[in-house]
Amino acid sequence: MNKLENYIKGKWETGDGDGQILFNAVNGSPVATTSTKGLDFNAILDYARTKGNPALRTMTFHERGLMLRALALHLQNHLDKFYSISYQTGATKADSWIDIEGGIGNLFSYASLRRKFPDESFCLDGEPHPLSKAGSFMAQHLLVPKEGVAIHINAFNFPVWGMLEKIAVNLLAGVPAVVKPATVTCYLAEAVVKEIAASDILPDGALQLLCGSAGDLLQHVTAQDVITFTGSASTGKSLKSQKRILDENVPFTMEADSLNCIVLGEDVNPGMPEWDIFIKEVRKEMTVKAGQKCTAIRRIFVPENKVEDIQLALGKALSQTTIGNPLNDKVRMGSLAGLDQRRDVKDQVQKLLASSQVIYGSLDSVELIDADADKGAFISPLLLLNEKPLYSPAVHEVEAFGPVSTLMPYNSLEEAIHLSKMGKGSLCSTIVTANNKLAKHYILGAGTHHGRMLVLNSECAKESTGHGSPLPLLVHGGPGRAGGGEEMGGIRGVKHYMQRVAVQGSPSSLTAITNVYQQGAKGYEDMVHPFRKHFEEIAIGDQLMTGKRTVTESDIINFANLSWDHFYAHVDATSLEGTMFEKPVAHGYFILSAAAGLFVENSMKCPVLLNYGIDEFRFTKPVYAGATIQVRLTCKEKKTQDIKEENDVAKGIVKWLVEVIDETGEQVAIGTILTMVKKKFQ
Ligand code: NDP
Repeated sequence: MNKLENYIKGKWETGDGDGQILFNAVNGSPVATTSTKGLDFNAILDYARTKGNPALRTMTFHERGLMLRALALHLQNHLDKFYSISYQTGATKADSWIDIEGGIGNLFSYASLRRKFPDESFCLDGEPHPLSKAGSFMAQHLLVPKEGVAIHINAFNFPVWGMLEKIAVNLLAGVPAVVKPATVTCYLAEAVVKEIAASDILPDGALQLLCGSAGDLLQHVTAQDVITFTGSASTGKSLKSQKRILDENVPFTMEADSLNCIVLGEDVNPGMPEWDIFIKEVRKEMTVKAGQKCTAIRRIFVPENKVEDIQLALGKALSQTTIGNPLNDKVRMGSLAGLDQRRDVKDQVQKLLASSQVIYGSLDSVELIDADADKGAFISPLLLLNEKPLYSPAVHEVEAFGPVSTLMPYNSLEEAIHLSKMGKGSLCSTIVTANNKLAKHYILGAGTHHGRMLVLNSECAKESTGHGSPLPLLVHGGPGRAGGGEEMGGIRGVKHYMQRVAVQGSPSSLTAITNVYQQGAKGYEDMVHPFRKHFEEIAIGDQLMTGKRTVTESDIINFANLSWDHFYAHVDATSLEGTMFEKPVAHGYFILSAAAGLFVENSMKCPVLLNYGIDEFRFTKPVYAGATIQVRLTCKEKKTQDIKEENDVAKGIVKWLVEVIDETGEQVAIGTILTMVKKKFQ
């Protein structure tokens, strides 16, 4: 039988002994064996820290992003292979799409996110902080990649997505990973890592894979490492509280049991589109991936006078779900990941049945297409009813990780909010309502207890990504029972793998360190006008002190006529009593335009291709006729742009700090404008 290999220290290695047998979830036949016995787990972590980490941390965000993009494109060439293996985990084509292409989609998303970061190995965090009166002392928070390794301990339900959604983030941050998928479905993760390794796209040591037990891996972690765990709360808690992890203060992100809920708004009645949207969403969440989703709806709250109608509608919808061999086109719901998982689900349902009753489905039988219920890990969707949810703690605590959900009545929105919170923290919650006031009440009332919330109605249902889909740029995680962790979240997630350091010093020192001009730092003026320089020739801190211009009354009147902006403060000297102006004030946009007139050199063609826009602009002191203004223009930041098509001009965006000062030396306006500048070399 095929023995799975572990990808460690740049090579594929099998563990010692016969190993654990892994089974096809659909027909029970053995798929492979696997073992991590005899592996040196300390050496694996050391390899990541000494090989993968230095290679990744010295790359820039843009290089890491392009690497993720190349990886995503490469994996897309091997979809057929991944799908054929995925069926063996019990997943239908639609389930496999979420796992495989959803995972690859995450790589693409984080690849694109590189544009939100500088083309540096580190990034700035937040605004600069002036710390002195004269402006010679300041601070800026920086984020630098941690020197350790991301250790991902994953759940069995999404062997591909679970791995790719996590590594996309740590790789963009510049940190390598050791992935330990759940053993029962690790053969699919192994197939994907085989392709990743063969592609040679990642630097050596950037990714290692353990197919089987984690051994004593966690006994060798350090404070520079990050552990993420997805699985049961009991395992999570026992790992999180290990002495080594506490002693070393290792960040531990946990995503565990979550009793996610959906609420039917009191405004929704049969016949409204929201009624059907609600039924469809519940059915989808119960049956996709046979309910083995950390985000699946486990609790359904419905106004008490509508429970019966909802029960009938849900029963009808669930009866249309065809179950069986995922290779059969007619099948809409496959099996659980294995017989152990089915046993677990049945045990958990028994606990729920102490206070609930089954109103749809059966624990003991299931009608199948093209499959044998004795061999495969199949189970019928189970809809339970609990009539006294306020007095039934189990229904808010017991997670049956399968197609199982409990319908419950509520008698007021306040009670629905209270019930949703009885789950003590979940990954996501949905309210279906056409009434946005009601939605606001629910979101603000229950928001403390859920990581993500969806307001679903006819306006967004068509394009909604749904209750159960964690998204790359949104936070995935939840408080309390859900683990208290955070995964993905776009830029937020990347920061989990970086150390935040507050750097203090002079504006000039901080400009040199951050490569972003800090106001008050020394500038550099030379004989060449900055707009005559190509992108590569412009240096951060390049500065131009422009000539001067005296603002006249006719400037103000002419600008009013040209722009049609006849706001009273610019044109009516008799209207100023009680305002902050003494005389008709020049338009702010005139000051901005006049500033451009001062810093744009002349009509000679230059490498500046266009005015790209304004990041922000403030008018800080009124300018009256008679004032003389001048501009200090300083290069603040540069961002190279990708060449998208063959004939594209090579170029970048330059951010300029524009400080407008008057004859007293006081600032009258300040802002950041952007120009698109051609590169010298294509
Ligand atoms: P576990 O908590 O048993 O396993 C989760 C992961 O932890 C697996 O990779 C497992 O590896 C690993 N693990 C277990 N023990 C250790 C250890 N001592 N050291 C290091 N790693 C360890 O959860 P299951 O996957 O068995 O699922 C059980 C229940 O958890 C489900 O029925 C469901 O209720 C819940 N669950 C919740 C999820 C969520 O996202 N909220 C997702 C999946 C499950 P191995 O497979 O080798 O044991």
